[in-house]
Amino acid sequence: MSYRKSVGKSEKPVRCKIESAVLCKYNIDESAYHGGNLNGVAVHRLMGNASEVFSEIEMYLSSLAHDGKCGNDETKLVCEKYQQSLLLLDGVFSVLCIPHGKPVPDDYKRGQDFTKQAAKLWDELHLPSTPKQHVLLNHALDQMESFGGFGDMMEDFIEQSHQLGDRAEFQLVHIKDFEEKAAVQAANESIS
Ligand SMILES: [Zn+2]
Repeated sequence: MSYRKSVGKSEKPVRCKIESAVLCKYNIDESAYHGGNLNGVAVHRLMGNASEVFSEIEMYLSSLAHDGKCGNDETKLVCEKYQQSLLLLDGVFSVLCIPHGKPVPDDYKRGQDFTKQAAKLWDELHLPSTPKQHVLLNHALDQMESFGGFGDMMEDFIEQSHQLGDRAEFQLVHIKDFEEKAAVQAANESIS
C-alpha cells in the first residue's frame, strides 16, 4: 500500500501541518504539500537541510497531544533515522559525483560504508524497495568502480536513465512483489 493511501484521515492534518510549517519554510517544492511526489530540486533542498528539517518535524510531532500516539523517544528515534538516511544518501551521491579518473580506493570504501548504513536504515524504516533504490544501494558503486568514476558524465547520462527509470517504475507500480518487479523490468530492458 502506498504511503499516501495508508495515511488515515486522522493523520492528514498532521501531514499537512508538517508540509506547510516545516517543508514550506525550506522551499521544499509546493508539489510536496499538495500531496505529490517531490521533484529533483525539492529533494536537493530536503537533503541539504535534512538535519534542520527533521529536528523541526520531531519538535512538532512531540508537541502533539494525540490518543494512541507513540512516545517521544520513538518519535525522536524515527526522525533521527530519516535524517541519517538522507545524510548517508547525500554521501553516496557525493562519491558517485566524483569525475572520471579521480576516485581513489578510499572513495569506494567511503561510498560502501554509506550504502551499507543507508540500506540498513531503509529496512528499519520499512521504506519501499524500488528499482532505483535497489540499483543505487547495490550496484551504483560497482559501476562507478568499473568505469573508474563517472561524475562528469552524469548530467545527460543520469537524466536519461532517470527518464527511463520513471517510465519503468510507472509500468511497475501495480506489481507488489519486488522480485517480480525486477523480472518484469529486466524483460522490458532486454526488448527496448
Ligand atoms: Zn540487482
